[in-house]
Parts: sequence; C-alpha cells; structure tokens
Amino acid sequence: MKLKIILLSMAMITLSCQNNSPSMSNEKNTQHTNNPYYSRTDTTVLNVPDAEWKKVLPDSIYQVARNKATEMAFSGKYWKFEGLGIYYCAVCGNALFRSDSKFASSCGWPSFFQTIRKNSTIYKTDNTYGMSRTEVLCGRCNSHLGHIFDDGPPPTGKRYCMNSIVLDFVPDKQ
Ligand code: FE
Repeated sequence: MKLKIILLSMAMITLSCQNNSPSMSNEKNTQHTNNPYYSRTDTTVLNVPDAEWKKVLPDSIYQVARNKATEMAFSGKYWKFEGLGIYYCAVCGNALFRSDSKFASSCGWPSFFQTIRKNSTIYKTDNTYGMSRTEVLCGRCNSHLGHIFDDGPPPTGKRYCMNSIVLDFVPDKQ
C-alpha cells in the first residue's frame, strides 16, 4: 500500500512537470558563474581534482558527476524532452549529443544512440553493485555521465543512458 502511494506521488510529480520546459541554459547561466572550467568552445582536456570541482559545482551536479550517483528514474528534466538542439556536459561544456540521436526510451533517463563526435565521451568498466556495466564519462572533464548498453536502436544498437542533471540542453537557433 505504501509503495502504491509512493508510486502514485511520483507519477503525479512527473505529470505536473510535463508542462515545464527544461531550463534553456546559455553560457552565462548562473549554474556556471562559479565554474571557470566551463566552456562550449574550448576542447582542451581538463585534469581538475575533485576538491576543486566540489568548490565550483552545485552539489546536485557534483554528486552525480564526481561521486557517480544516479538520479531517480523519471525524475530528471530531459528523460521525456524532445527539443531540437545540442546536449553539453553540465560540468565543463563539452558537446556530447545532438537531439537527433535521442530516442524515446522507457527506462526513465534520457537515452541517445550516438555521441556528437567520437571522443565526446570515454568508457570504463564498472563492476559495482554486482553488475557488469560500461560507464560513460565526459571526454573533456572525466565526469560520470551514466552507462552505455547494447539494447539501443539502429544504426548503432547502443543506448547511452544518461543522467539529466549532468546535461545542459541548448536549443538550435530558429
Ligand atoms: Fe565534461
């Protein structure tokens, strides 16, 4: 019964969020004002210690990006979002995905079948929680983004299962 109530509350929260469009961040978004490493044009690989990231990132982003936390399914701002544009790393501004590689997935997290360029992301074996998975990290700042699975649609058959909180969506200019 308790579980039913919790699930119902989550569904209501989800429904109530559907009309709110995700924040259309720009380069001057307040989220990045304390972050000197954020750039959508500089592709230099960063080697910044966690202690420094802790100072410049909002805690919600830090927990996923540097502590590898996972946001709750169906809770993030982009899992059901269909805007046209580019998704950047919310930690460093690295371009990650174009919206045309996003697909509707029932998993509750934003899902993509390919990155915007080959070295947008890097990969690492993840054997935590009794599972054998492949972790996806940002190719520029080495932050945790999510995992990749082999059950995606053509043409790649891949599913990049990402946390919304570490993505920044920038819409195409009309
Ligand atoms: Fe990054």
